[in-house]
Amino acid sequence: MNETQSMPPSLWAATAEPAPPVQPLDSDRTTDVVVVGGGYAGLSTALHLAEAGAQTLLVEANQIGWGASGRSGGQVIPGMKYDPDGMRRLFGDEAGHKMAQVFGATADHVFDLIERHDIACEATRAGWIQPAHSKAAESAALERCRQWQALGANVSALNAAEVADLLGSNAYHGGWIDRRGGSIQPLSYTRGLARACLAAGVTIHDRTAVSKLRQDAGAWQLPTEGGATIRARRVVLCTNGYTGALWPGLRKSIIAANSFQIATAPLPEDIGADILKGGVVASDTRNLLAYWRRDQAGRLIVGGRGTFDEPTSASDFRHLNRMLARIYPQAADQPIEYRWGGRVAITQDFLPHVHQPADGLSVLIGCQGRGIGLQTAMGRWLADYMASGESTRLPVPITSVRQIPLHSLRRLYVSAMLAYYKMRDLL
Ligand SMILES: Cc1cc2nc3c(=O)[nH]c(=O)nc-3n(C[C@H](O)[C@H](O)[C@H](O)COP(=O)(O)OP(=O)(O)OC[C@H]3O[C@@H](n4cnc5c(N)ncnc54)[C@H](O)[C@@H]3O)c2cc1C
Repeated sequence: MNETQSMPPSLWAATAEPAPPVQPLDSDRTTDVVVVGGGYAGLSTALHLAEAGAQTLLVEANQIGWGASGRSGGQVIPGMKYDPDGMRRLFGDEAGHKMAQVFGATADHVFDLIERHDIACEATRAGWIQPAHSKAAESAALERCRQWQALGANVSALNAAEVADLLGSNAYHGGWIDRRGGSIQPLSYTRGLARACLAAGVTIHDRTAVSKLRQDAGAWQLPTEGGATIRARRVVLCTNGYTGALWPGLRKSIIAANSFQIATAPLPEDIGADILKGGVVASDTRNLLAYWRRDQAGRLIVGGRGTFDEPTSASDFRHLNRMLARIYPQAADQPIEYRWGGRVAITQDFLPHVHQPADGLSVLIGCQGRGIGLQTAMGRWLADYMASGESTRLPVPITSVRQIPLHSLRRLYVSAMLAYYKMRDLL
């Protein structure tokens, strides 16, 4: 990342609460902790560090929320890639069980923070539905629901008629609803987190890109592209899908993949009344999944995979128009008002990663495309660990930075993976 970029146009940029009152760094600063990256992960880490008494400064290369956080679908979904049984298989009965409980509570962290800091972000907790795109996927979805139910989560199975009624779409078999989930205006949430940070005493500088990371006599020095240097005892990198060359090998420890969205004009009453009743949000069981929701003005927002490169024209979003027509033929001709995309970070084991590659340097990376709950909660857990020194505060082990083999072939990987998943979804 070389130059500061303004907020890319999107529905969220057009309708968000105002940006927090922060300025670029214009002179050298010394602090205890510096957090790099102004998304959910960086802001949550900084907020909880400041609340624990640490002198904290956060820098963001562009504007707060410029990365995936200000552009996401705004669906707050608990859990992660693995179902509770999958976590037990991976980590053993006891640790896996604890992990499922901890990751099952990530949406709570988001809604608690919103309430505690009075964040205006159109927060709605009407539930997240996962409708099944095939009979086989329905069995897997019901099994997932059963596993969460066994842990006491507020979830229920839905038959095909219930799914059709709540979604306003006949495109799916049965599915399940997770009432822990909900939605937010993601850029307003991110900006609200920044305001909460400021109130807790965090110093924030936006439009301030860190260009290097070097250790000198036990302290870290972070020169910035504007010329000022930050000195700090501890550094936290929260740059996720926008990770550059700050730490050797870090960029190659993830696959940065694009996700795109389109938003229609507000739907007319005769079309919109049946779509996503009560404010539920949804993402389906396909490997190349579709996710969709409404906004406060009644627009329908549909998201899915993006192209490998940044989008350049409306044709890069055509697959989303087809998706919309497949799920809601009645809304297929509605005008599209906004198209935008952003980058997520996927790790090889599909877990969020915490690294400590050097003394005083922590890294939180790997949102797996479901980062509103995950990165908000991970930021809190990382701050708890840094404040207490107890690694049991983290739900994942601290690992070393491992490059994905043949990372330079990632374009090939991604295309092959997309083709494979497309075929499986069709079958
Ligand atoms: C289109 C889309 C839809 C999505 N939908 C959902 C959804 O509905 N629900 C959900 O849970 N998740 C969703 N996600 C995923 C979610 O947005 C991400 O997981 C989350 O935003 C990651 O947060 P983060 O703070 O880790 O990273 P980011 O928000 O990407 O922040 C990283 C920041 O680091 C900054 N940075 C990088 N290098 C430097 C540097 N050298 N100096 C200073 N700053 C630097 C970048 O400018 C960037 O702002 C979606 C993502 C996308 C792209």
